[in-house]
Formats: sequence, C-alpha cells, structure tokens
Amino acid sequence: MHGLQAKAEPARVKSALSTNAVKPGKSGRMTQTSFTLHASDGRARTGVISTPRGDIRTPAFMPVGTAATVKAMLPESVRETGADILLGNTYHLMLRPTAERIDRLGGLHVFMNWQRPILTDSGGFQVMSLASLRKLTEQGVSFKSHIDGSKHMLSPERSMEIQRLLGSDIVMCFDECPALPADRDRIAESMELSMRWAARSKAAFGDRPGHMLFGIQQGGLEQDLRQHSAEALREIGFDGYAIGGLAVGEGQEAMFGCLDFAPGQLPEDRPRYLMGVGKPDDIVGAVARGVDMMDCVLPSRSGRTGQVFTRLGQLNIKNARHQDDPRPLDESCGCPTCRNYSRAYLHHVFRSQEIISSMLLTWHNLHYYQELMDGMRTAIAKGGFAQWASEFHAQRAQGDIDPL
Ligand SMILES: [Zn+2]
Repeated sequence: MHGLQAKAEPARVKSALSTNAVKPGKSGRMTQTSFTLHASDGRARTGVISTPRGDIRTPAFMPVGTAATVKAMLPESVRETGADILLGNTYHLMLRPTAERIDRLGGLHVFMNWQRPILTDSGGFQVMSLASLRKLTEQGVSFKSHIDGSKHMLSPERSMEIQRLLGSDIVMCFDECPALPADRDRIAESMELSMRWAARSKAAFGDRPGHMLFGIQQGGLEQDLRQHSAEALREIGFDGYAIGGLAVGEGQEAMFGCLDFAPGQLPEDRPRYLMGVGKPDDIVGAVARGVDMMDCVLPSRSGRTGQVFTRLGQLNIKNARHQDDPRPLDESCGCPTCRNYSRAYLHHVFRSQEIISSMLLTWHNLHYYQELMDGMRTAIAKGGFAQWASEFHAQRAQGDIDPL
C-alpha cells in the first residue's frame, strides 16, 4: 500500500473539522484556531490551518529560521517564495539572545520582522544533538551550552515558558527522542517518558486561545509502540499531532514503512506534522501517506553549499560544467534567481564565495520547495495526486539538462 492510488472521485470534506476557543481577544481580533480539510485523495489530504496570524495551507513546508532568521533571506523574500509559516528553534533562541530578551523586545514575530505564524520546536531534540554534559532525569534535561559552556535546564514546564515568551503560534511538547537504531526497551522507555512529559506540557501550556499545542508521537519504527503513544496523546488531547523520532538516520525505506501506519494512528481531524523532513521525494512520499506539515533545513542549508533542487533532481553549481552556461538553473522556474541569473554567474559567485551566492541559491531552493507543495495541494484538490506524483518521479529520473 503506497497511498498513491487515487480514487475516481476525491473525498471532499468541506466542513471545519476542529476548532478551538472561538472568542474575540483584547484587540477584538478573533483568537480562533482551526483545521479544515478541503479534500483528500488516497491518503493525501489538503486543507487549511487558521490562526490569528494567518492561514497555513496544507500540505505545508516550513522553512527553518534557527536563530531568528532564515539564513541569507529577508523575511519578505521568504514570504514571496510562498511560505505561510516558519519554524524557530527553542534551543538556539534560549541560549542566544534568550527568550526573556526576545519577550522584552516584543516577541519573536516583531524581533525578526515575520508577522505570520511561527512554529517553535521544544528544544529537546537539539539539546540531545548539540549540547554537552547532558543529564536526563524524570524532571527534564540539564546541559551545558555549546556556545559558551553555561549551564541550563529544559523541562516540559521551562520549554512551555520559553515558547510562550517567544510568542510562538504553534508550540511543541517537550519530548525525548532516542537516536536510531536503539533497542526496543530503550525506545519504549523513552516513549513512556515523552508521554508523561506530554501531559506536563499540556498542563503548563494552559489555556491560550489563538495558540496551538502539538503532541509528539514516539515509538521508533515499532507499530505497537507508536499505537500506544498515539492513544496516550489522544487521551491528553492536542490541537495537532507530530510524528517524532523519524528522519534520524533510519533511511527512506524504513521511514516510509513507519509512515504506512503512523499517520493513520493519529486523529484524522487534526494536522499531522512530520518533523525534520526532508528531501523532495521524502516530502512527496510523506504527503502520499497522510502527512500535512513538514520542516527541514535542507533547501536553505543546501543553498549555502551549492546544492540546487530542481524538477529534474539535484545539481551542484560548483561543477565546472556550469562555468560557460548562460541558461538558468531551471527554465520553467519563476524565481528571481532563474529569471535574472545564469548558471555561469551562479557558478562564479559560488566559487568566489560571494554572499549573493547563498542568497540566490537559497531563494531558488525555497521557491522550488514551495512550488512542490503548491503542486501537491492543487493535485490533491483535483483528485489527481497519483498522476502528479508519477510525473514528479519521471521528471526527476531524467536528471539535469545536458551540458552545452
Ligand atoms: Zn528558480
């Protein structure tokens, strides 16, 4: 089962499926958040998450703004690529410039000049991957900063406080995620701890109209552990549900194997978010299996290392084959990079380590990712997702255009 088989007629679900806290805020602005599914096609679905800061069209790709910036991009340029929402990293922001300072300066939206929705992670994953001298207890994780060695503590309560100070629109539960491969006992133990932390996160989050709290399913690649985790989270009740603990080195086949069952274990009427994914074909495969939201540093990080994503797969602008090539990265791409600059120029500024190289390649990559999401949303709405996906794979199989 791939979930790519389109039904003859897409099942259309017009009604708002989940809504919370419908009441005007102090400013008179509606403080409602909701998730409305517009159509599904196989297991793929399209809809809208509404927040007071704007709508998020799903399936959605969230560019990563780790340190209150999507590197090499102005916020208005990120918006021009079609992004409805950004992701910010709790771990990085709590260390520098600190959540308290961002709060004093008006919150993360004002601080970084992005007025649309922001999702923040809980900090848990990056503590485990970046910090040193970590100590994990039932209470939380104490650690030393990778920046200056200072001591810090993250717990469900502290993570909720930081995400509130940042002003995040979509807040993630504080969880623990073991690196794969790990043995089943370790995965089960970690998942149970994450479920206790999910309950504490919900209690600490409290009642915040206009903001959403997402639970995070854990359980590695084990179907029964994932089911147990999904039931524990449903019992607590969240505005959305993330699939955590994937894209941590298990490979695409294992990840898709898990996504064949994991999204279906989560409530159908809430957004499903696959954390930290991924390459274009990972994203298409995840959407085919019922995922609504994703984030990844890949398009922006690759923009800084000369890796370019196009309809025809991936290319490396550093390669000598581009140095006399007057053609754009992709003739069919409407981004400013492709409209105005040749491969030869992009090759030159990359080799010369000019700042504009990161700017132009990141813009193109983010534009490509958002076009990919838009293509999927349109295809799902029309009931043509399987056809769209087979064209996507066929184009990539062609590979980059021949050198001149
Ligand atoms: Zn382009």
